[in-house]
Amino acid sequence: MSAILEVKHLAISFGGIKAVQDVSFQINEGEILGLIGPNGCGKSTTVNLITNTCRLDRGEVIYQGKAIPPKVGITERAKMGITRTFQTPKPFGNLNVYDNIFTIALQNRSHAEARRKTEEILEKMELTSLAYTLSAKLPIEKRKWMDMARLLTLNPKVVMMDEVMGGLNPSEMESSLEMVRKLNSEGISILFIEHVMKAVASLCHRVVVMNEGKVLCEGVPGEVLKRQDVIEAYLGGGVKKNAKG
Ligand code: ADP
Ligand code: MG
Repeated sequence: MSAILEVKHLAISFGGIKAVQDVSFQINEGEILGLIGPNGCGKSTTVNLITNTCRLDRGEVIYQGKAIPPKVGITERAKMGITRTFQTPKPFGNLNVYDNIFTIALQNRSHAEARRKTEEILEKMELTSLAYTLSAKLPIEKRKWMDMARLLTLNPKVVMMDEVMGGLNPSEMESSLEMVRKLNSEGISILFIEHVMKAVASLCHRVVVMNEGKVLCEGVPGEVLKRQDVIEAYLGGGVKKNAKG
């Protein structure tokens, strides 16, 4: 399988904190790759480095076989097809769902094309019946899907989902997992960051585990989630570097 996005030796420190140290992995074309690890291990920072909201100290991000020059910013990366969701969605609260999507769809389309695109996305994200609801009034699950809907106006090739399942009840989580599968089946490669291991195990093709800013291991969920060092990383809130002697 070929990589759509590959990161090599990513590193960044904040003052004395080595938030991400020498992180390398690849997201294969058409894959749902899980990125897991205890709080503070560097998952969100890794996403920030990929989108260039944080400047790399070292390392490179390779997209469709080519290294992205460090000066390429988040907006340009999004236009290239590399997008991310945020832990807390940030919609235009005073606009309805339709206009939240339409406003972004309009950025590189004619009015007619933007309308078509908005309607297509509303349908796909099961938001058509809520199109004229004020986004601030949406239940949390729908707000998350509206956030996703806005990204889809960019025709992304990679979507990095940072803890999108947080705050959902089990049935909302189940329908959200179905939505992620649907987007993936339409050709979007996904980096899925999540703490709920049941969701990771049922959704992800492969998993990368981070601990203390580094990659601890990677593999298929059925094997990785059983590993002693992975369990210890979660229980202890972080495996010490020399804990295994
Ligand atoms: P995770 O998403 O895995 O919970 P983060 O990537 O958010 O972890 O954080 C990794 C480490 O980097 C933490 O110690 C965090 O406090 C630190 N960190 C992240 N961003 C910044 C920043 N902008 N300034 C200072 N420290 C940061
Ligand atoms: Mg995080």
